[in-house]
Amino acid sequence: MWQINPCCPGTKYPIGDARKEKVAEVLARVSKMEVFQRLNEGDPWRMGESLGVTEEAARARTRELENVCLYCDAFLGAFAGV
Ligand code: SF4
Repeated sequence: MWQINPCCPGTKYPIGDARKEKVAEVLARVSKMEVFQRLNEGDPWRMGESLGVTEEAARARTRELENVCLYCDAFLGAFAGV
């Protein structure tokens, strides 16, 4: 499996490609990004704050999707390449 995912193997949008980059390099890169800093803190509803997505908006979208991991996929899909 080449996808380097933020956590779950099923995450729709990987943070890197292990065929092309070393995992340590991918982790070093994303560790500087506020989105993944919030995820690393276990706070997915705040991962969009640096991009203008409020926690309130994130929680509302999560309620619509009925699953925080689906919100995570939706968020990362909308901001792929963050
Ligand atoms: S919200 Fe779900 S998909 Fe996103 S990082 Fe957390 S456990 Fe993984």
